[in-house]
Amino acid sequence: MPSHMPAIVPTPNSVAELDRLGDQIAELSAHLEAATARLLTLIRDFDARGGWNSGFRSCAHWLSWRVGLDPGAARERVRVARALGTLPLLAAALARGELSYAKVRALTRVATPETEARLLGVGRAGTAAHVERIVRGWRRVDRKAEARESARRHAGRALHISQDEDGMMVLRGRLEPEVGALVMRALEAARDTLYRKERAAGAPAATADPAADRPTRAQQQADALALLAESALHHGLDPGAPGERYQVVVHVDAAALADADEPGQCVLEEGEGVSAETSRRLACDAGRVVMRHEPDGRVVEIGARTRTIPPALRRALQHRDRGCRFPGCGVRVAEGHHLHHWAQGGPTTLSNLALLCRRHHRAVHEEGYGMERQPDGVLRFRRPDGRLLPDVPPLPAVPADPVHALRVRHEALGLRLHPRTACPGWLGERLDLGWAIDVLHPLATRAVGSSPSPAPAM
Ligand SMILES: [Zn+2]
Ligand SMILES: [Zn+2]
Repeated sequence: MPSHMPAIVPTPNSVAELDRLGDQIAELSAHLEAATARLLTLIRDFDARGGWNSGFRSCAHWLSWRVGLDPGAARERVRVARALGTLPLLAAALARGELSYAKVRALTRVATPETEARLLGVGRAGTAAHVERIVRGWRRVDRKAEARESARRHAGRALHISQDEDGMMVLRGRLEPEVGALVMRALEAARDTLYRKERAAGAPAATADPAADRPTRAQQQADALALLAESALHHGLDPGAPGERYQVVVHVDAAALADADEPGQCVLEEGEGVSAETSRRLACDAGRVVMRHEPDGRVVEIGARTRTIPPALRRALQHRDRGCRFPGCGVRVAEGHHLHHWAQGGPTTLSNLALLCRRHHRAVHEEGYGMERQPDGVLRFRRPDGRLLPDVPPLPAVPADPVHALRVRHEALGLRLHPRTACPGWLGERLDLGWAIDVLHPLATRAVGSSPSPAPAM
């Protein structure tokens, strides 16, 4: 024995003791995996029933806030929980403590109801490292097939424009799904702009003149496309900054303007069919044009367009808040919110502003969530029912002996877990990845001469 080796000579006694320690680790791990399966079932149910939809952007955001998981791990839990909903074999193996969460997490990245049984075999036979490598190889085959499919679709994109005998232009085309969705949204927005007023006024009474009838849906689509073309050319095909989307018109009583202390001197022009709260939300962070009126409603002055939050202040706000301030959120793309609205006399100062993402800006204006800044500068949020929404919720009480609690619970469920429950079937052979994928993946080209056995050599 080289002299630098530690001089620990194992005695039969310590070997037995370490074995026991190892067994304890393995048994507790199996209990934890079984408990994780239950946890994932609860998360799936909570997610499907929208339990997180109480001011949170997603189930993962809620988990991150409530349980303290880092956002990546929270997203992964939700993904695995959803996937296991359609993969009963993998779910059951995790629930029996036979497959670790690490293996299940890897396998659910590629498993489908059709391939689940084969992949369960991989999970049982191999170590976590083998499973990870097989899944990566599997995804390469999937990705190649996917890339071929997407290249085929991309190559198939087309827009044909021709002229009919009567001079009308005819459009016919094929768009990739995401481009199609974009076009549909744009057409919808344009149609909304063109026909919103009419809808708000109610359907016009039937008249003798057919030209006065409401245009058909197809006619509206054609008008919407014309508007899209016009506005695209007008703006030099510039998609524009997100902050420039909204412009509010403020009507100010000329007499009231003389007295700056007069409250309620501003009246926001409400969009058609938009609630007062919605227009206040849009006005929080928008372009603003002030119109002064005489008492009879005559406009006497129209001011230049300005931002409700000047660019320099907005930069300072972005620097201070960094992102949405709603508990558990932190999304970077956010809007400036006036805690005390400027239209009701609130100042546009850093202390009266806070960043909120679109989702949470809506929660605060339209969904009744409360938000106030305390004297020490800390923001406080309240649920619509007035209860405080803590930044970090208190941790639940954990039993003094969690292993015992888990064991009792699992035995009540008929689970007999022991140190060998999660042992892989691997006996130490080298993993032949290429061969394993060829044998396992339905899209892989099978190597000739390979054994068709579903259990790969690891
Ligand atoms: Zn706001
Ligand atoms: Zn947010």
